[in-house]
This record gives sequence, C-alpha cells and structure tokens, in this order.
Amino acid sequence: MADKSEHASGRADIAAAGPPPDAWQAEADIVVIGSGATGMTAAIVAAEAGASVIVVEQEHDIGGHAITSGGNVPLGGGTSAQRQHGIADSPELLFRDLTDWSVVEPNGFPDYRYNDREIVRAFVDCNVETFDWLVAHGVVFVDKAPDAQGGNAVGNSAPREMHCAVSHWPMVQTGLPADPKEQATRSSGNGLMRPLEAAARQAGVRILLRHRMVGLYREAPTAGRVLGIAVDHAGARLAVRARRAVIIGTGGSTGNVNFRRMVDPRLTEEYCGLAGMPWSDQDASGELAAMAIGASLWGMYNQVGEFGFNLTKPAAIGCQYGYQNLRWYPGSAVFDKAGSIGLPVRDWQDVITVNMLGQRFYAETGPGFTTNNYNSLDPYTQGSWRNANNIVFRPNNWLNAAMAGIGDGHNGGGPIWAIFDADAVRREAWVTEAPHVDRAGGFFFGADTLAELADKIAMRYQRMRMPPENLERTVARYNGFVESGTDEDFGKPRPLHKIATPPFFAAWASPVIHDTRMGLRIDARCRVVDLGGQVIPGLYCGGESAGGFSQHGLARAICQGYIAGRDAVHRSRDASPATGSAD
Ligand SMILES: Cc1cc2nc3c(=O)[nH]c(=O)nc-3n(C[C@H](O)[C@H](O)[C@H](O)COP(=O)(O)OP(=O)(O)OC[C@H]3O[C@@H](n4cnc5c(N)ncnc54)[C@H](O)[C@@H]3O)c2cc1C
Repeated sequence: MADKSEHASGRADIAAAGPPPDAWQAEADIVVIGSGATGMTAAIVAAEAGASVIVVEQEHDIGGHAITSGGNVPLGGGTSAQRQHGIADSPELLFRDLTDWSVVEPNGFPDYRYNDREIVRAFVDCNVETFDWLVAHGVVFVDKAPDAQGGNAVGNSAPREMHCAVSHWPMVQTGLPADPKEQATRSSGNGLMRPLEAAARQAGVRILLRHRMVGLYREAPTAGRVLGIAVDHAGARLAVRARRAVIIGTGGSTGNVNFRRMVDPRLTEEYCGLAGMPWSDQDASGELAAMAIGASLWGMYNQVGEFGFNLTKPAAIGCQYGYQNLRWYPGSAVFDKAGSIGLPVRDWQDVITVNMLGQRFYAETGPGFTTNNYNSLDPYTQGSWRNANNIVFRPNNWLNAAMAGIGDGHNGGGPIWAIFDADAVRREAWVTEAPHVDRAGGFFFGADTLAELADKIAMRYQRMRMPPENLERTVARYNGFVESGTDEDFGKPRPLHKIATPPFFAAWASPVIHDTRMGLRIDARCRVVDLGGQVIPGLYCGGESAGGFSQHGLARAICQGYIAGRDAVHRSRDASPATGSAD
C-alpha cells in the first residue's frame, strides 16, 4: 500500500559531493541538471552557441513537469504573436504588471507584491526573443490570438497566454497521439517539450536519462568555482565535470516533505499526490545540493501566499494523483506508478468529504482554489488601490479546513475521503473498478454498509482507525440536512442527495500540491547567489528551483533557461558581483 511512485517524499541522498575527484567519468563545457522547461532550453541555447553540453535527467524520459503541463505559455511584452493580433504590450508594461503591488487574489493574497524586481526585469526583457526562439525551434502555437485561458499570474494589462499545439506527438498521459481533429488546437506540454528535445539532439546535446544528480563539486566546501556534479546511475556513482558551468533546472521542491515544511508545517507526508507526478518529482535536489555548498534561498513568501494553484482541491478522487488538469491512462509509460485514472468529480453535491475520523469539516462545493486571470479584475487600473476593492472575496476554505487536522498533535490534516453511494455512482457515471480507481494502493474502498466501509479504510496515511459509528452518525446527520434543505453545520448550498443506497464508497480526496514559487537565490543573469550575497562562480539556476518570482509555470522557466544557457557560454568566467547585490 505504499506510494506507487518510487520517489520517496524527500530522499536523504543529497549533500555536497565532497572534494573534487581525481578522475571524471564524463565532461562537457556546460552540465545541465534536469531536462524540463528550464534545462532543455538552457541546453539548446548553450549548444547552439558552440558549447558541448551534457543534460542529466533522473527519470526514464525527458520533459519534467513541463511535458505533463497544459502548454499554456504566458510570454508577452510585445511578442510577434501579440503584434500580429494587434495587441499592445511592451516589456515596460509587463514589468509593471508583474510587480504591481495592488493586485490581490480573490482571497486577498497579493500576486506580485513580493517579486524580486531584478529577476522580473530580466524576465520581461527576454520574453519577445524567447517566444521567437521557441517558434524557431519547432514549437507550434495554436493559431489564435493570445488570451488568458489557462493562465494565472500573467499580468492584467494585455492578453499574453499562448498555447503549444500538441501536434502529432504521443502524449505522456496516454502513450498515444491526440485525436487528429484536435492536434492543431489542443494545448499541451507534449507540444512544447518534444520539439525542444528534437532541437537539443540536433544541436548535439548529450542527454543522459536515469542519471540523478546527488551533489555539486566546488573548489572548496563553500568557496571557489563549481567544478561539476556527482551523479548516481544504475547503482554507480559518477563524477561529471563542467568546464564552464553547471545549470540547475531541477523543477522545485514541493515534493520533498521536509523541505516544503520549512514554509508550511502542515504539508506532511499524506499530501502524496503532487501535480506532475509520477512523471517527475519536485524533490528539492537542486536546492539541497546548492545549499550544501553555500547557496541561499529567496522569495519564500511566494510559497506560503495562497496563490493560484499552489494547493488545490483534487478534481479527481479515488486515485493518488488527482490534480485537476492531469489524468493518467493505462497506455502511459508511468501508469503502473500512477495506479489509476481517478474519478473526475462533476458535481461535489454527489459526495460528502470527511476527515480520517469520519467527520465532515467544510461545505464540499467550496471552490478548489481562487486565482486571477487577465480580466478577472474589472476594471483593472495598474497600481491602483481600488483594484483590491474590485475583487469579489470568495471563501475558499475547503483546503484550509481539510489541512487543519483532527487535534491529535499531528501537523497535517490526514487523509480526506469522499463518501458516496451507488446512486452517486450512477449520477456521475463513474466506474468503481480498476483502472479507474486504485483499490490496491489504498486510495479507494467499497462496502455494503457504512460501518463496514469505515472499518475497511486502512492505508499508509490513515494513522487512526475511522470509528464506524462516526461515519454512520455523519451520514445520518447529512441525510437529515438533505431532508430539511439546510446544511446546519457548514452551509453547503441546499444539500441535494442522501447517501443511502448501498454499496457505499470511500475515495481518496486529499489536497493536491502543485507549484513551487520559492527557491535558490539568483541574480538577473540566473547566477546562484550565496548566503553572503556573493555569486557562486560557475553555478546557474532557473525555473521552479529558483526563487524570487511568483509567476506560475512555463514562461518563467523557459526564459530563465534561455538567460542561463546564454550567460553560461558567454560570461561564466566573468566573476563580477551579483547584479543588484548592492541592496
Ligand atoms: C499538470 C501540470 C500542468 C501545468 N500546466 C501549465 C501550463 O499550462 N502553463 C504553465 O505556464 N505552467 C504549467 N505548469 C507548470 C510548469 O509545467 C512548470 O512550472 C515548469 O515545467 C517548471 O519548469 P522546470 O524546468 O523548473 O521544471 P520541470 O519542467 O519539472 O523539469 C525539472 C526536471 O528536472 C529533473 N530532475 C529533478 N531533480 C533531478 C536530479 N537530482 N537529477 C537529475 N534530474 C533531476 C526532473 O526529473 C525533471 O525532468 C503545469 C504543471 C503541471 C504539473
């Protein structure tokens, strides 16, 4: 009943690699860690500038979260696509948007207030060329005007979201190409990462799969240049030399329980269904390896602020991985790790959600999370205090109530179970067997009575038995609310359906963790900076492993990969102080 993913929640194998080795097993000018949006971009840019490049990737295939993503890429500032559709935008406007203190999420959390101005400036200044670079490297965008669909934290002054067409590429979610009718219009990370992989191979980049970076070599433990990386591969430890630079593109830290709890102690091990897993993890290995040689973290508020999709209510239940925009199907190369497709919830009126003790805790129909899109602030006036007044504040506390816990001294909320009956199964047209639900993994249970169901719920994270009488009492009370039409406990809008027809079911419905928005301190050139504010020579980072920028996703990662790849080739020997270090 353990996680199907081989990624433990925070492996302890990352440390400083120790003194430089006598012999290197491989070497290149630039060594890139991770083959996702940051790493693949950096590798291509560096190789095309004449450097030899090795990419190490710990998984069986390339792509990271980027290949599992929706492929919605918010690049603005006046891209050729924006110009083609008559959309006025500029780097200056984009900069002001992404540092606009006045914008808040509908729950009151500010989107951009805590962004590092220097990092955002570098980002906005390369949006236009990065967009053209993607097109020149085989990425086909859906042929329509930029919009805000699928985007959050894109800035509010102009439509900027572009969508990577899936084209003919087999999708990692199914193992199959998309329906030919959808290939030109469906946005998908497969349509981003497969063309970039082809471009990287074409440029001579050496991609080493199933090679896990476990440490960085530096001249002295916390001083001097970074010289290379230690790698685990097939049970052996290898040393890979980087003649000019190492670029960290490891994708963030929210899959590492110990690491993520530095910013939010509630995020204990039961939150095991990270978005993007099990294709790849965000195990903090890049952050930990860099910190072991002196690197600093940066912009940590952006992780605790309740932004966008950092934490979400699951959209599918009965499976370990229930993130709203990602389903795994039996043809996928990782389906054996994913375990099931999951049951998408069309209407939360069809279930109640209970904690480990069988007690309800909040109205089930509460929103998954709030997020701002372009136009969600209406009217929007840049820098205006009135923007906050124009937000409709919506309670979104299902998540916070789910994570509040049961008062037993444990920090996390424990498993959350959706409870429903055979009538709900009919209404939702659910199939309650494999591959749709994961009974073998302990994420789905069924029984003829509620008492029997409570008794059956046993799995790794259910640290206490669910008292059968609790579940019976909870359901009886809820059924009473259905009769009276009023949820006296949590104010669910008119409860509609009794839970009364056997068999009864319990499906995993625990919160899902998504973005990392904190990480290593970098400067405008994506050079990693140490605890004393000094650049660590020969070390770069971008994407979700870099801190200081609360924008969700791909644009940030691609642009920082672009900046890091270019700088590493042309300027990595330049030992100038961190840009912006004067503050
Ligand atoms: C389901 C889903 C949908 C999304 N949709 C969108 C969207 O539509 N638009 C958007 O802008 N963003 C989206 N995102 C977010 C976006 O995919 C990420 O922000 C982006 O991929 C981050 O890029 P990265 O390079 O930092 O990390 P990744 O793309 O995750 O790449 C990191 C890579 O590093 C590898 N790695 C990690 N540690 C090691 C190690 N020690 N040794 C070797 N390799 C290692 C990983 O295996 C992985 O391949 C989505 C994410 C998910 C999960």
